[in-house]
This record gives sequence, C-alpha cells and structure tokens, in this order.
Amino acid sequence: MAHCVVPAAEEILDKEYPVLDKGFVRLVDYFGGDQRIVQSARVSYGEGTKSVSQDGALIDYLLRHQHTSPFEQVVMTFHVKMPIFVARQWVRHRTGRMNEVSGRYSIMKEEFYVPAEDKVAPQSKDNKQGRCNEAFDKETADKIIAQLEAGQKESYENYSELLDSGLAREIARINLPLSLYTEFYWEMDLHNLFHFLKLRLDSHAQYEIRVYAEVILEMCRKVAPMATESFINHMNEGVNFSGEEMDALRKVLAGEPNPLEGKKLDRFNEKIKTGVQL
Ligand SMILES: Cc1cc2nc3c(=O)[nH]c(=O)nc-3n(C[C@H](O)[C@H](O)[C@H](O)COP(=O)(O)OP(=O)(O)OC[C@H]3O[C@@H](n4cnc5c(N)ncnc54)[C@H](O)[C@@H]3O)c2cc1C
Repeated sequence: MAHCVVPAAEEILDKEYPVLDKGFVRLVDYFGGDQRIVQSARVSYGEGTKSVSQDGALIDYLLRHQHTSPFEQVVMTFHVKMPIFVARQWVRHRTGRMNEVSGRYSIMKEEFYVPAEDKVAPQSKDNKQGRCNEAFDKETADKIIAQLEAGQKESYENYSELLDSGLAREIARINLPLSLYTEFYWEMDLHNLFHFLKLRLDSHAQYEIRVYAEVILEMCRKVAPMATESFINHMNEGVNFSGEEMDALRKVLAGEPNPLEGKKLDRFNEKIKTGVQL
C-alpha cells in the first residue's frame, strides 16, 4: 500500500491546541499510522492487511511483547510552544529531532508563563522534586503571581534596553528567565513518543510538561488509534512488578501479611492499592 492517509489525523493537521497560558501544540505532519505498523510487521511474511480486529490484535501483541521496530515506522512532527523550563525537560528525550527559534537571530517576544492561581503551591514534603497538591490560599497565590510578573517585566525591560543600546541579541538575552516562551518543531517516531508519553504523563512529571503530553496523547490517538489504545493499556496503565514484589503479591493474594508493608518501597504499596484490584 502506498502513502498512508488517516482521515482523523488529516482533520487536526495544522490546528493549534492551546496549552498553559500562552503555549500550544500543533500537529504539522505525520507519516504512517496503524496500517503502517501492520504492514511493516507483516513484511517478513509477505502478508497484506487483514481484518481490523486482526490488525488490532497484531498491534497489541507487538506492543505488549516489545516488538518495537514497527512502531518506529510511524513518525509525527509537532510545532510546540512552551516555557523554556519545560523545553529543558523536553529536550532530554534525545531521540527527537528539533529546530528551535533562535534568540541569536530573532528578538525574543515578551511572552512569559504565569501559573494559574491553583498551580501556585508550596514545596511538597514527601517529593523533593514536586509541589503539594493543594495550592496556597488565593491571597498568597495572587501575591506570588504579582511577584513573578514583576520579575518578568523587569527582565524584559532590561533586555529591551540592552538591545536598544546596540548590544548583540545573542548576549542581550542571557538574563531572560526560564519562564520565557520558546518554540520548536519536533519530530519523533511513535515508539520513542510512547516512551516520552509514559514518562511525561506520569503523576511524578511536572504539571507544566504533563499538560503537553496529554495533548500529544490525543494526537497519537488520531494518527494511530489502535497502537495508542495498546500503549495506554500495557505501558501507561499497566504496572511492572520486581521479583521481590511478585513474591509479596503472591503472599498477599494467599491472605498472608504483606512482607513489604512498612518498608520504604513506596511504589509497591502504591501499586497494589491503585494499580491492581485485589
Ligand atoms: C519525573 C522525571 C524526573 C526527572 N528528573 C531528572 C533530574 O533530576 N535530573 C536529570 O538530569 N534528569 C531528570 N530526568 C530526565 C531523565 O533522566 C531522562 O533523561 C529523560 O526522561 C529522557 O529519558 P530517556 O533517556 O529514556 O529518553 P530518550 O533520550 O528519548 O531515549 C530513549 C531511549 O533511547 C536510548 N538512548 C537514547 N540516547 C542514548 C544514548 N546517547 N546512549 C544510550 N542510550 C540512549 C535509551 O535506552 C533511552 O531510554 C527526569 C525525568 C522524569 C520523567
């Protein structure tokens, strides 16, 4: 079969999906879909496309058993606009290919991320990397937001003054904060995109990148719905148990005490409460 056209994906091409206060994700292009995964998996047998249910079962089997290369045959290109601190986390995913706006070439726009009131929360006591689920009271949050905005305004005024004085753009920008918005084109194959989504949809990922991952997940659903369902089932909502945890699970299922109870293996106790219905 020739070029893969997926009608649901065609419909969202080029549309901007807003994220955070000023960011967005736009699907610029896609290459392949569920059918491409099926074709490339079956090429070794010389068999063509079968029924939809057989295709779905094949995709599910491949994903579950980590036969990953057919998923690499599907590629998606996004245009993403996000604060620099989100971009810093994003670019750690090395298998993407990207082109970012250049602060050496262009004047950076006065666009900063300002968190919504309900996202302005104290440092978490049990997660060194995160914030509490509960936000500050409105008065405190408003004060913090005003302080953040004042800092952003001042830094942009300094930037503009330095540019006006004739300083090169590449050096005038160096004091701009991490809340400044940047944008890039980003291309990723579906196998690595699922890995990105697994990590960035997780509740331990920072809220500000998680919301981008949520939009990208919906875009994957348009391009490759069967593969995305399998991803959600096996990778995103499925859990792995270590040997020690399997042993504990057998004991718990047999009505014996949980040998890991009280031990600081937090994820196991979390898993058996939320991931597995005992
Ligand atoms: C919640 C969370 C917190 C984090 N906290 C921190 C932190 O505090 N500090 C920090 O520095 N990072 C942090 N990270 C980033 C993290 O360590 C990874 O760099 C990031 O998640 C990208 O994952 P990856 O390397 O698997 O993905 P990718 O770079 O997309 O790579 C995908 C896979 O390809 C392979 N691969 C790609 N490139 C190479 C290579 N050059 N050599 C070998 N194998 C390669 C690996 O198997 C890898 O798993 C955090 C990530 C998350 C999700």
